Amino acid sequence: MADRAFDAADRAALTAGARAVAQHGLVVGSAGNLSVRRGERVLITPRGALCEAVDPDACVEIALADGAHDGHGRPSSESPLHRAIYAASGAGAIVHTHSHYATVLSTLVDELPPIHYAIHALGGTLRVARYETFGTDALAEAVTEAMEGRRGALMANHGAVVAGHDIEHAVHLAVTLEWLAGVYYDAIVAGTPAILDETDIEAVRERVGAR
Ligand SMILES: [Zn+2]
Repeated sequence: MADRAFDAADRAALTAGARAVAQHGLVVGSAGNLSVRRGERVLITPRGALCEAVDPDACVEIALADGAHDGHGRPSSESPLHRAIYAASGAGAIVHTHSHYATVLSTLVDELPPIHYAIHALGGTLRVARYETFGTDALAEAVTEAMEGRRGALMANHGAVVAGHDIEHAVHLAVTLEWLAGVYYDAIVAGTPAILDETDIEAVRERVGAR
């Protein structure tokens, strides 16, 4: 294949990211998929794979534009979601999980507000994308809308997705999102939490930027 963009090191990095997601407890069974982008090409975990045991050689290189691949292996069923997010952003890597608290919250609220300043890493208040059937273009469209100006979103009655610079960054964002979801859930169960406002988050951005 003339336009192959990913080598063995890229495949190893993607599978290391998948293992990290599993080790952080963000996935159950074969739920969850990860990808990295380079130009017009995407390397994505295979359909039905367990995140803790993805075979690097089973990861599938697809075209960003139409998902076409060389027929070797089957890409994740959420390939349309990954491609749509890349097409709408400058992201270099994506992690999609059914992590527990993000999924719980996705059935309860319309957004995950700034419960803690760490949400600055995800761009601020996270929206919950409307429910659509998994693997469809409709889901890809709903999530892409919800992620506008953000590095992540919750997906109603489904899970969460984040987009980072590279796979390590995306895994970090997935862990952060799940932690924030857990804090917010516990807080609303216990009472009415104080919520930061946009000015507070902007101040954090400036402080981080200054370091
Ligand atoms: Zn899913």
